[in-house]
This record gives sequence, C-alpha cells and structure tokens, in this order.
Amino acid sequence: MIAYDFMYMQPDTLRQARENFLRLSESGQNPVYYAGGSEIITMCRAGDIRPGAVIDIKNIDACQALSLDEDWLRLGAACTLNRIKESGLFPLLGLVCGRIADHTNQCRITLGGNLCGSIIYRETSLPLLLADAKLILYGARGRRALALKSVFDGRMRLQPDELIVEAQVPLWALNAPYYHMKKTANEKIDYPLLSVAALLYEDQLRVACSGLADRPLRSKQVEVALNRRALSPGTVAAKATALLAEQARDSVEGSAAYRLFVLENTLRSLVEDWHDEKI
Ligand SMILES: Cc1cc2nc3c(=O)[nH]c(=O)nc-3n(C[C@H](O)[C@H](O)[C@H](O)COP(=O)(O)OP(=O)(O)OC[C@H]3O[C@@H](n4cnc5c(N)ncnc54)[C@H](O)[C@@H]3O)c2cc1C
Repeated sequence: MIAYDFMYMQPDTLRQARENFLRLSESGQNPVYYAGGSEIITMCRAGDIRPGAVIDIKNIDACQALSLDEDWLRLGAACTLNRIKESGLFPLLGLVCGRIADHTNQCRITLGGNLCGSIIYRETSLPLLLADAKLILYGARGRRALALKSVFDGRMRLQPDELIVEAQVPLWALNAPYYHMKKTANEKIDYPLLSVAALLYEDQLRVACSGLADRPLRSKQVEVALNRRALSPGTVAAKATALLAEQARDSVEGSAAYRLFVLENTLRSLVEDWHDEKI
C-alpha cells in the first residue's frame, strides 16, 4: 500500500505529458513519469520517494511503437519486456528481456523504465549499446534523436522534464550473431552477479556487461583486447578482464574478485565459441 494520496494522470500525447509535468512541478507536486510502475511503486511503499503526481505514459501511441521501417527497428519506451521478447525482432534484446525478473513482471516492466530506473543493472541497455542504438527523447526542444551512448553513461542523463519516446535499432543488429550469459548468486530469477552480452559486427566482437560495476559498461579497450585473433582465448580474456579490474564491485552477492573470476571465464568461453564459429 502507498500510504498517502497522489494524483494519477494518463495523457494521450507527448505534449500533454510534458505540459502536465511542468505544471505539476511548478506547483510543487514533484511529478514522475510512470511506465510499468514496478520501481516507482516499490520505492513509494518503502518511503524512498514521495511523488505528488504520476504521469502514466502508456497511453501515448508514440511510446508504444514496435515496428520495422527501412532503416530501424523502433521500440517504444512503454513496450514491455515481454512484448519485445515475443516480437522476436531483436533476438539478443529478446533474450536479455526474457532473463529479467519473472514472466509476470516482464509483462509490466518497460524498456524506458529499465533504462531510466535507479536500480543499477539496466540490462536492456546492453544490446542497445552494442547495436549503436539511437534514442528519441521528448523535451523542451520537442523531439530529438541522440546516440544512446551520448545520453547514457551507465545511467540516463535526461533533463527533469524529458522522457524517452523510443529506441531505434539499426537493422544489421537484428540478424547479427549474438551471445548472452547471465549468472546470479542464488536463485535463477535474480539481479545479475554478472550479465554479459555480445554482438558480432563485421567479424568483430562487441561486448557489454552489467553487474560487474555500479553501472552497465561497454568498453572499446576491452573490445580491442578481445579481438586480437592471434592470441589464445585464455590470453585475451585475461587481458580484457584486467582492464576492468578497478571497476569491479563488492556486494553481499559476490566479491569483486569473484565477479572478475566469473567475467574472465565467461569471456574465455565467448571467445572460444567465436573462434570455433559457434556464434
Ligand atoms: C522482481 C524483479 C526483478 C528484476 N530483476 C532485474 C534484473 O535482473 N535486471 C534488470 O536490469 N532489471 C531488473 N528489474 C527491473 C528494474 O529493477 C526496474 O524495476 C524496472 O526496470 C523499472 O521499469 P518500469 O517500467 O516498471 O519503470 P517505472 O517504475 O515506471 O519507472 C522507473 C523510473 O524510470 C522513469 N521512467 C520510466 N519510463 C520513462 C521514460 N520513457 N522516460 C523517462 N523516464 C522514464 C520513471 O520516472 C522512474 O524514475 C527487476 C524488477 C523486478 C520487479
């Protein structure tokens, strides 16, 4: 139960959503954009946040896009993980979505909510970073298209009144060979101890991970190390892991040293599979 009254709004357009956001902010209502609500409701119940108004974006058509055009796969920010998975359009993202939470929550959690949430894992960012996806944002300057990596450094950098409308994924990424491994500390359905995603582009491995550090990571240096085909999988995995050593975090689920151990083994098996043409 949320033990206080708050306002609920469900606008039909981006303009209405933002106008409501600005008006409610000016009157001190501390509004938030609301998508699946899984994080907002949990945080309200725990007393971590206390918005006076929530602006539900699920009725906005632009946020529900799920279609292919000539150049891009368009994924609305309010698409649920399950809808993305069931569409089968971007297999790597579908696999990652299918390994976040359980089926019930996958039918609720949205792409935008996962990217913007405060919980550090944001696993849907991994395939999008690997694919060089773009985001369409809506804010003071209307719609703007930006490379994901220019507004996401492991967490979203939005203006307070700005929202994600959709992600756009270039078509090459939809059919590219891919790999994903998620290890949890205890239960199968849990936050990741380590989640590693890879995509092959022009015979080069692209790799990103979540769980190792306090935010998702994609590192060019790591990719350069992994793509040295003259070296053995064990050697490149050790070199790539050493590059991330300082960023590994300790938590009750696993020490930094253990996370690095899992990472090195995962990278070695990924590179072995790649050399053996299994991915
Ligand atoms: C049981 C369970 C297990 C989970 N396990 C994992 C896991 O292993 N890995 C993982 O990555 N995630 C996991 N999650 C998901 C994650 O922790 C968040 O709960 C979820 O991503 C929030 O999505 P939502 O759509 O419910 O967002 P909401 O709760 O609606 O919103 C979350 C935040 O995002 C903002 N927001 C939402 N949409 C937009 C938008 N379009 N533009 C701007 N801001 C927006 C909101 O204002 C709010 O600040 C799990 C969640 C649950 C419930």
